[in-house]
Amino acid sequence: MNSPLRTIHQKGINVTNYKVAIVGAGPAGYFTAQALQNAQSEDRTFAIDMFERLPTMWGLVRSGVAPDHPKIKTVAKVFEKVASEPNFRLFGNVEIGRDLDIEELTARYDAVLMCTGSAIGKKLGIPGEELPGSFSAAQFVPWYNGHPDYADLDISLDGTTAVVIGAGNVAMDCARMLALDPHELDTTDTAPHALAAFHASKIRKVYIAGRRGPEHAAFTAPELRDLPKLQHTDVVISPQIVEEAHARAQASGEIEKHLASNLEAWRLLAEHPYSNHGREMEFHFLAAPKEIKGDGKVEEVIFGINEVKDGKVVDTGQTYSIKANLVISAIGYQAAPINGIYFHNGVIENENGRVLGTNIYTVGWAKRGPSGVIGTNKSDASEVVQLLISDLSDEARPDFDITPFIPAGVQIVDQASWSKINAAEIAAGEALGKPRLKEVSIEKLLHLGQ
Ligand code: NAP
Repeated sequence: MNSPLRTIHQKGINVTNYKVAIVGAGPAGYFTAQALQNAQSEDRTFAIDMFERLPTMWGLVRSGVAPDHPKIKTVAKVFEKVASEPNFRLFGNVEIGRDLDIEELTARYDAVLMCTGSAIGKKLGIPGEELPGSFSAAQFVPWYNGHPDYADLDISLDGTTAVVIGAGNVAMDCARMLALDPHELDTTDTAPHALAAFHASKIRKVYIAGRRGPEHAAFTAPELRDLPKLQHTDVVISPQIVEEAHARAQASGEIEKHLASNLEAWRLLAEHPYSNHGREMEFHFLAAPKEIKGDGKVEEVIFGINEVKDGKVVDTGQTYSIKANLVISAIGYQAAPINGIYFHNGVIENENGRVLGTNIYTVGWAKRGPSGVIGTNKSDASEVVQLLISDLSDEARPDFDITPFIPAGVQIVDQASWSKINAAEIAAGEALGKPRLKEVSIEKLLHLGQ
């Protein structure tokens, strides 16, 4: 890797070895590395350095995907296969913008790919949003998933009722986690502090509120179809609301396949028998959050009642309220700032993944905003890598090693070190019948990696 040669003459073919930095070890980062590996040819190779600010890898696969959906996490095997290739090096626990400036990467690597996601929850912008007991899904989800930055969050589950705002899959994950019988989480990788809190939780009723109708909800059909399978939770949606949504969808023209599938899932849910489980998740629609009220903490959420008129969602001017002790808003995300990178409208300013006038590219939620499932990043990565390749000059930059530029006090978590952390967590979980027991302290994670 430290060879001064940029172009290696191999069996009569000139092989150009380009140096690429990937920032962020989440799905977008790994799929980008995979796309680069797949794009290697007789005359073009890539040396990939991946940087991640945490000592743990896999981004949202570790800290986003709900613990009761373990199948989604099996994609981590693909990530580890990518990481096992000889042209891949990992620099975990190294933060770009803190330990290394972005300019230190752009000056040395042929290309820098920002795969840093969207970590900040969008704000509702309503009075009372900052009251204790009101959280963003961008805090609650990483809290139950053991993200070190959120492990100490004081999330009280002492009240009986929670309100989740938003009609997307993240809202659904949050509501399900709150409404499940916690014993169902015992064999998952829910963070130990969160599992204890769910066991002690007094919450028995969880509302999910969407500001438009079920026909406009962003939930996807597989997630909706899973709800009647919950063994200890009743999921409630009024059959009338479903019928009205169906009628509105029909009135506005041909119903597209994905909407038909969602409407059918709603119908099945509405028809599902009520079992008096003592735990309930209830969908409200056409409910726009107006205010969160409470004396020093969340006590009530005021909703404006919307209606659909001529295909448009409008405020009726009427309101209703739900008494609740916990509010989670799951209404989308925006990218967290990074020194040296320009952001616009919650994403890195880019054109199809190119940051114009630089050798910086972006893939994933940092590029396109918080949409799509984990697999969406695969095609996104391939497209951006194709653009990157079309921009490459014939000659690569001089070979170099970034390691000496990383401050001496930073304990780099390389692939071997991450493998130790991973193995230690899996071993600790095995004894408890869990896929892994997550460590949430950075210090302890670094110790496990030694
Ligand atoms: P999302 O799918 O974009 O849903 C955001 C929701 O928030 C929408 O219902 C939106 O309503 C609502 N909203 C936005 N602003 C609001 C406001 N001011 N007041 C009330 N409601 C508001 O986002 P997400 O749930 O964060 O999910 C992000 C992506 O991750 C999605 O593509 C999702 O499918 C994916 N994901 C997938 C899974 C899975 O496959 N199991 C799990 C989690 C996440 P409007 O439509 O009215 O704007």
